[in-house]
Amino acid sequence: MMKTTWRGIIAEYAPFFGSPDPEEAVTLQEGGTPLIPLETLVREIPVPVRLWAKFEGANPTGSFKDRGMTLAVSRAVKKGARALICASTGNTSASAAAYGARAGLRVFVVIPDGKISRGKLAQAIVHHATVIQVEGLFDHALRIVREVAETHPVALVNSVNPDRLEGQRSVAFEIVDQLGSAPDYHFLPVGNAGNITASWAGYKAYRQAGRLSELPKMTGVQAEGAAPIVLGHVVEKPETLASAIRIGNPASWQGALNAAAESGGSILSVSDSEILEAYHLLASKEGVFCEPASAASLAGVLKRARAGAFSGGERIVCTLTGHGLKDPDTVFRSSPPEIRVPARKEEVLAVLGFS
Ligand SMILES: *Cc1c(COP(=O)(O)O)cnc(C)c1O
Repeated sequence: MMKTTWRGIIAEYAPFFGSPDPEEAVTLQEGGTPLIPLETLVREIPVPVRLWAKFEGANPTGSFKDRGMTLAVSRAVKKGARALICASTGNTSASAAAYGARAGLRVFVVIPDGKISRGKLAQAIVHHATVIQVEGLFDHALRIVREVAETHPVALVNSVNPDRLEGQRSVAFEIVDQLGSAPDYHFLPVGNAGNITASWAGYKAYRQAGRLSELPKMTGVQAEGAAPIVLGHVVEKPETLASAIRIGNPASWQGALNAAAESGGSILSVSDSEILEAYHLLASKEGVFCEPASAASLAGVLKRARAGAFSGGERIVCTLTGHGLKDPDTVFRSSPPEIRVPARKEEVLAVLGFS
């Protein structure tokens, strides 16, 4: 007999989504991602806490964006849409391109010039989206697509589309189902701040439904060079190697502030070198390969831990938002060069230390 498989978030959590009917969903069976215990890395923390990574890189297009895209595209199709448009630092366009292809829609993605990682761009292209690079920043691209979608028959699937955030709540449902309760702390990277807003809404919806009693403290992590929420003002020229969170004027700014305030959490920033440290620790000590922006969540945990924020016994989840394969260039830029030797056994043995 065939084993029951995960059916995607709309079918698995149907009572939390009024529409569409699961049979009508445009789905790639997104969600159902692993919650991986980080039993080696947790030793970096001076007090005994428990630590997990919610590995969103295991989604069909390699990032959490699929959770919102399945709902946004399903509903756009129901309303008769023929085309989708989005502005993107990469993962939204990859997801829109895939779900659009599945639904038979045209997809237009507008991306900031030159700053998109290769894997994400490859995804948009292979799914036959029309990719338009604009000579400007993400915030400019977003302004343009919002105006286009207001006046033309194309469905906007950026996270300003409420269906996206509604779908993204499902990560909180899954974490609670996997842990049996909410963690004490939920750390996650913050770019446009849709994900922290949606995760918080997810926990609250689960509590409302009686599936949860205690809520987690939501802790958002921005990159120092792109930390408008921490600084309290728009950043005109955001800079960080974590391209997925290189955003100077987050669309869900207020949502992030509310999530942190209501939950007793906070928003902090970490440097690019702290992000890279966490990125390499995850890959080399745990076998978990995420993209740089994702590692900001763990960098935030380590920073808080070193400042003595935990007393012991806390259960901490960090969202790892996207897969490391999306951005191979960061690996080569931040690692020692590969070893090359002449094709002789002695040369290889010498590298192994057996000479
Ligand atoms: C989109 C994205 C983020 C930022 O999420 P927001 O909802 O914009 O805060 C972080 N990491 C990755 C990998 C992403 O794709």
